[in-house]
Formats: sequence, structure tokens, C-alpha cells
Amino acid sequence: MLAEVITIGDELLLGQTVDTNSAWMGGVLASHGIALHRITSISDNAPEIVAALDDARERVDLILMTGGLGPTRDDITKETLADYFEMPLEMDQDVLRNITAWFEGRGLPMLPVNEAQAMLPRGCTVLPNPRGTAMGMWFETADRGRDQVVISMPGVPYEMKGLVLEEVLPRVQTKWSLPTRYHRTVLTQGIGESYLSQIVNEWEEGLSARGVSIAYLPAPGQVRVRLSAASQDEADARQRVDEAMHAFLALAGEHVIAEEDVSAAEALVRLLTEQGATLATAESCTGGAIAAAVTSVAGSSAVFEGAVVAYANAVKVAALAVDPQFIERDGAVSESVVTAMANGARASMGTTYALATSGIAGPGGGTPEKPVGTIWIALATPHGTEARCLKLGKDRGRNVQRTVLECLAWLIRTARAHSAD
Ligand code: AMP
Ligand code: MG
Repeated sequence: MLAEVITIGDELLLGQTVDTNSAWMGGVLASHGIALHRITSISDNAPEIVAALDDARERVDLILMTGGLGPTRDDITKETLADYFEMPLEMDQDVLRNITAWFEGRGLPMLPVNEAQAMLPRGCTVLPNPRGTAMGMWFETADRGRDQVVISMPGVPYEMKGLVLEEVLPRVQTKWSLPTRYHRTVLTQGIGESYLSQIVNEWEEGLSARGVSIAYLPAPGQVRVRLSAASQDEADARQRVDEAMHAFLALAGEHVIAEEDVSAAEALVRLLTEQGATLATAESCTGGAIAAAVTSVAGSSAVFEGAVVAYANAVKVAALAVDPQFIERDGAVSESVVTAMANGARASMGTTYALATSGIAGPGGGTPEKPVGTIWIALATPHGTEARCLKLGKDRGRNVQRTVLECLAWLIRTARAHSAD
């Protein structure tokens, strides 16, 4: 079964809105075994909508459209589809009641244009949208020798997502009796996609014969690896993926920092929570970004005590008890200073672990001995303190991002090793 997405909206073509709807649908559909064939973005223009629809219907069975369903005059998708499928617009009393209740619930006056949102093409299946006033519409046609479904949804991302998950996918799965898919995702860090695939090369060659597919999803410093299998029998798909994952984990070893589809920060918070361990940070070049990553995880208060953002040397001395002689002798970006920062944070906040960073994030500030991208990180633990020097690139944002990830991954590996002791 093949599908296409058509996103509609002048704002998409003007670059005012990024088409996140397509990306999100592509991911969700793929994870349900529906191959997305093409993504098309067009303006709020009836002939364009008709042409895109005619085109897509030459190729695929399922067409998902978003956008152009608002109450304003520029939104014309619904009218265009009513004409296209020769289904005149008609007041849907149930929908009208829901929209009226939606406005009453928010204490807002209902305008005639809002009432007009209950005018829907006669004969289409209405997909209720409890998050807004534009309903989804499901059109079935069979005139090209096969069943086709055209779905129109509002462009507002969270309304579209609700409709896809609650209305569209269950109906699509029933209509085409799709196999269930099972996947598992793990997170690796510190190894590039190509090196990783080299390590697992031989194993990967035998994968498709076992009905398992692999996807590498790289981001700066990390690669998610997803294994999936499809089967009419869920237990069968699960078994195949589990077996393949077992072999992958053995090969990838230390590179894996989370055996689930979570971020490094989530994996760390879970691990420290399990161990009853706590964390503090002393951050210079990351400016609190490690603390922000950790505290973005729900439940992080169980493990995170606090952070000192020690940007100026005076703060490193006053708040973290760094010996000013170290700064004088080695400079702020040095092993001695970053080690003292980690020790200072661990001592003053009384935590199991403390992470510290001090580096030259760039783009300026580099010297021949310490070029931009020289970043010292330290980890203080009950068994002692270690420091490492990262040699990253010239881009400030990426340097901070990579440093945060290096720190989180380092602590994950260390805490794991401690719990194995
Ligand atoms: P509409 O259904 O055309 O009224 O869309 C409402 C709003 O949803 C627009 O103003 C955009 O901000 C947003 N939107 C529309 N299409 C997309 C899309 N493809 N991706 C992300 N946001 C979108
Ligand atoms: Mg629009």
C-alpha cells in the first residue's frame, strides 16, 4: 500500500512556516509499515490542489492532505474537495453542535465563519477533531480499478497529529489489513554512522533474510539505531527484532548508551534514579546546558541537585573553590581547573557525581596551544575525579551540544560501570 502527502498553504511556499507536518507523518506512517511515496507542498489555490490530487491518484492508494481548512477566505481546501468529489457542502448538525460547544467551553463568541466550518461535503466520512473547529474528512473512491482514500486534515500540527493517531491510522489499518510492526530503538554515542555500520557489517548482511530492517538515524555525536519487522503475528515480529537486537547490542557494546528510544538525558536520569545517585554540574563553556538537558526530563528532581554556571574566573574561585593559582598557571581551560570545578561542585552540593566543563566554544578566543573547540570536561565520582580534553570544531552551538552529550554519555558509562562493581 502506497501513500503520499500533500501539504497546502501559501505560508509553506513563502518560507514562513516549515512543513513539519510532512516530516511527522512520514515517520509515523513508516513506523506503521506504510511507505510514503512522495511529499508535495502547494499553495492555497484550487487548480493546484486539483492537479496535485489528480497526479497523486495516478500513483498511490492513500493521499493525506493537511492545510487550508481554516475559517478564513484564503483557506479553500474543503470547497475544492467538495467540487472535486461532487459532494455538495451541507450543514452537519452533529458537527455544528460540537463546534458550538467548543466556543461555549472557551467563552468565545461564535461567528458565522465558524458556523460555516460545520458545512461539510455530503457523503464524506467526518473525522472528528476535538482539538479545533476544522474537522478531518475521509473520501473513498474506487474509480481507477482500486480503492483509494483521500484524507483532508487541518494544518495546525497538534490537531493533525491527534487526527492521524486517533482517527486515520486505525481506519487505514483496518481498511488495508496492514501487518503489525514491531520496532526497537537504541541510542549510540561517540561513534559515527559509517564506523558503526562497519562494526556490524556482517551481522547486517544477514538481517533482511531474517525479515528485519535497520535504520540509522544520526544526529550530532549520536546515532539512533532502529530495528523493525512486520508480520501479521505480532509475537513473531517481536521475536525477530529481539533476536537481532541481542546480536546488535553484543557487537556495539560500549557505544550503546540507552537500550530504549530515549534521549541521553532521559537515559541518565533513569539510571541515576535506579541507583539512588545524585548529580551536580559546574559549567563554564556549556553555560548551564547540561543542567538544562537534565532538568528537561520529568522526574529529574530525584537526581539533580543544582548547577553553578561559573563563567568568570572569579566565580570559579568564589563559588567552586577553584585555586586561583591553577587559573594563573594553566589558564581557565585546563585539566587542573576543570578537575577543581568538578570537585568543588561535588563537595559543595554533596552529590554522588559532578560534571564540569571549561572550554573555548568559539568562534573567537582560540590560541595556537588552545584552538577553538578545545574543551576540558571532568567527572567527579566517589572513586575519584577524571578529566578529558575534547577537540571539537569551530561552531559554537555544535560545540556546546557535543560537549553536553559527551558529558552525559560519560556519566552514563561510568555510573553503569559502578553499578556493575
Ligand atoms: P490551516 O489549516 O491552513 O488553517 O493551517 C493553520 C496553521 O497550521 C497555519 O497557519 C500554519 O501555522 C500551520 N500549518 C499549516 N500547514 C502546516 C505544515 N505543513 N506544517 C506545519 N505547520 C503547518
Ligand atoms: Mg492555511
